[in-house]
Amino acid sequence: MKTGLYIHIPFCQQKCLYCDFPSYDNLAHLYQPYVTALCQEISGWGGVLSRDIIDTIYIGGGTPTLLSADSLGTILECVHKSFAIDKTAEISIEANPGTVNQEKLLALKSGGANRISFGVQTFSNELLKSIGRIHTANQAIEAVREAHKAGFDNINLDLMYGLPGQSCRDLENSVRQAIGLGVTHISAYGLKVEDGTPFAAMDRQGKLRLPEEQVDEEMYNFTTEFLPKQGFMRYEISNFSKTGYECRHNLKYWQYQSYVGVGAAAHSFFQEERLSNINDVSQYIYFVEKGKLPIEEREKPDRDIAMAEYIFLALRTVQGLSLSGFKNYFNCDFFQQYGKIASELAKKNLIVVKENQISLTITGMKYGNVVFRAFLP
Ligand code: SF4
Repeated sequence: MKTGLYIHIPFCQQKCLYCDFPSYDNLAHLYQPYVTALCQEISGWGGVLSRDIIDTIYIGGGTPTLLSADSLGTILECVHKSFAIDKTAEISIEANPGTVNQEKLLALKSGGANRISFGVQTFSNELLKSIGRIHTANQAIEAVREAHKAGFDNINLDLMYGLPGQSCRDLENSVRQAIGLGVTHISAYGLKVEDGTPFAAMDRQGKLRLPEEQVDEEMYNFTTEFLPKQGFMRYEISNFSKTGYECRHNLKYWQYQSYVGVGAAAHSFFQEERLSNINDVSQYIYFVEKGKLPIEEREKPDRDIAMAEYIFLALRTVQGLSLSGFKNYFNCDFFQQYGKIASELAKKNLIVVKENQISLTITGMKYGNVVFRAFLP
């Protein structure tokens, strides 16, 4: 069986003001013990997955490139020793401008990494500062150039819209700059003010100047219309790529395929069970050092939840939901179970039904959450 591997690096130099990901600053003293624990967990999974082939690997965070070239090399070496890796595997790493140099990039390249994803968010220095990013626009440009120089030809840039104080012109400049750097993939996310973040506190105090709803919508429309015209095809709600450069690892999530997550706060979907690792970094290290499984929660979603998950993950992609795929997986006819919901959503022009396929319409892509909620039990 082919499986994906996710490796979580929960460290950041500084927390961005909007971020609610499981990542922490000021933990440099834990980098080394964390890498050791991570390798131990990876080796353990190596035994469990001895019959599987790993065909996608994603090192995410946090900021994986905060680790040294040696540590990154150690992790990749351990992965190669522990698993059977497909010769054509996609091996991605997330990176932040300001934390990469040729030495690290070459260590990643020689460890087999072939895709790099930079969290750029915007090319406006003013906006970068106001959202708490650690880098400037020039550092982002430099990072992409260095990655090209190190031999990476599959590069993603993450961009954000709907940032406080951002105008449509700012966004357009950023999208144009990203394209001009010769990257192969662009992810464009709208800002969501998440509970527990500094932005949420600022919002409560009325100190967050978010763009008007209409401006936000204009930004969304610009991104989703402009990128395809420039050869970046939309293949998922927030993801655009040149042909053949879709992120294969992320496609696994949307196609309900299995993956194993290692590291603090990592999640796995394995043998139809969802597993969550311990969030706390020190506790994670402690558990692994003691030879215990660092799993905090495991659950097998009941059938109704699993079907809803399967549907809405598939609907995130432009390809949509394959009706025969659904039937094969659940041994159940989609229309028997969801016919009424589907016809209501189609009447509202949110989904379109074509022979063996159901997908979101352009409007449905915009209001994906309405569609997803409709399928929840
Ligand atoms: S760099 Fe990424 S993971 Fe780290 S705080 Fe910023 S958004 Fe969160």
